[in-house]
This record gives sequence, C-alpha cells and structure tokens, in this order.
Amino acid sequence: MKGSRTSPYRVRLELPAFSDAQWQIVIEALAEQLRHAAALLDGRMPDDVDEVLADCGVSLFPRARELRTQCSCPDYANPCKHVAAVHYVLAQTFDADPFLLPALRGRDRTAFLASLRAARTGAPVPVDAPADAAGGVPLSELSPVTMFDAADSLESIVVHPQVPGEVTAALRRLGPPPGVAATAVPLLEEAVTAAADRAWKLATSNDDGNPMLAALRRRGSATTKELATELGWPAERIRAELGPLLESGLAIRTGHARSTRYHA
Ligand SMILES: [Zn+2]
Repeated sequence: MKGSRTSPYRVRLELPAFSDAQWQIVIEALAEQLRHAAALLDGRMPDDVDEVLADCGVSLFPRARELRTQCSCPDYANPCKHVAAVHYVLAQTFDADPFLLPALRGRDRTAFLASLRAARTGAPVPVDAPADAAGGVPLSELSPVTMFDAADSLESIVVHPQVPGEVTAALRRLGPPPGVAATAVPLLEEAVTAAADRAWKLATSNDDGNPMLAALRRRGSATTKELATELGWPAERIRAELGPLLESGLAIRTGHARSTRYHA
C-alpha cells in the first residue's frame, strides 16, 4: 500500500482457515442442497451461501475478531487508512471472484469444487485417498436376502445422470449374444439406443409442470378416457397434450384403436 513515504507500507491481513473437519461439514451441507451445489459447480456463488455455512457454525466472510490486520505505518488508528484501503480493494476483488472467499478459508476454487463434486457423487475425494479405500463388503458377509435392501431412504441417494455416450459400443465389442443371429444385432442396437435415450429423458425431465405426465407415471399406463377422468379434462385436450409427449419420447403408446394405452 503506497502511503506518503516513498517505500510502500506493508499491510498484513490474517484470516483463520477452516479445519478439515469444518470443511467436511460445510461441503456436506452444501452438497445436500441441490440448488447450491448446482450453482457452485456451475461457477456461481449463491448469495445465501453463508446462511448454509452459518448452520455449520462458520462463515466464509470474516467474522468479528477473526480478521487480524497489521500495517507497517506509524499511524495509531487501527484500522489505519492503509488497512481500510486494502479492505476496500479486497471487497472489490471478492465481487469479481467470489471463489477467493473459500480460497482464503483454505480451499481454492479447484479443491473446493472437487470436494463438492465428490460429496455429490458419493465418490471418495481423489486427493490423498488410498487406492484400496473403496471399502467393499466381503463376499462371506453378503446375504441374498438383504443384498438389495436400501441402507437408507431412497431420497438420500444422490443420482447424477450423464448424457449417454456411445451406448452401443459395449454391444459391438461383445459381439452378438449367444443364440442371437448377427443379423439381429442392429435391432438390439436400436433397442439399446432407444432405452438409453428414454432413460436420459426420464432422468432429466421434470413432470412438476405436466399433470398428465405425472398422472401417467402414477398409474403406469392409461387410456385417453382414464386420463380425461383423472384430470377432469375434455378428451380433445388430452389428445392435444399427448402429442408432444409422444413426440419427445416421454410417453409411449401401445395397442391400437380403443385398446390404445399410454405409458410414461
Ligand atoms: Zn497503515
């Protein structure tokens, strides 16, 4: 900080970093909130991020008495105008890059986002994680009775759908399944591609805004008449709104004429 002397004054600001345990609590709390995690992973710092941290007993922003300042000037005032000026510049810098805040607390942007991503996917953080730490269950302890029991509420399972890549690659690599003629493989590829496509649409679609899709998913399948009764809509509206759902693959049609059923 350049003052009245020719050589600049040295301003020093100290802010305690979070401990690893504190960071773990913070990351878990942020990862639990889809809205926050999504914004952060997208490179945005949610305005109310510090409210989540407050619940964890910490704050990204310096709290009273946390920030220690020193200046090499002879001024008695504390903070002196040099420290005040550094505060001002820092505030502007934080506005420009809010990820400097977690950096000052001990996790730079890369480390911060990596641990958040790991918490979201449930994968171990790659750094420092020993290779053998995958923690499997010994075969002898597996029970066919409980093998598929959920350890926790299904709501707590965080799912990260990813755009299907080359879904038929594995099929091509494996070759035709036993008993299946090579000529049938293109049909299988078609089915796998359609399944992946539909899975992706299901995973990324949100039926909150679409009562018909919600009704179809609730019922499993329905005729237009059943949909009309359930939703209280006229048949024309049912048909009109089914159109785009069928086109987008979110709903499919089976049967024909009077026996036509719609599935989602
Ligand atoms: Zn000063």
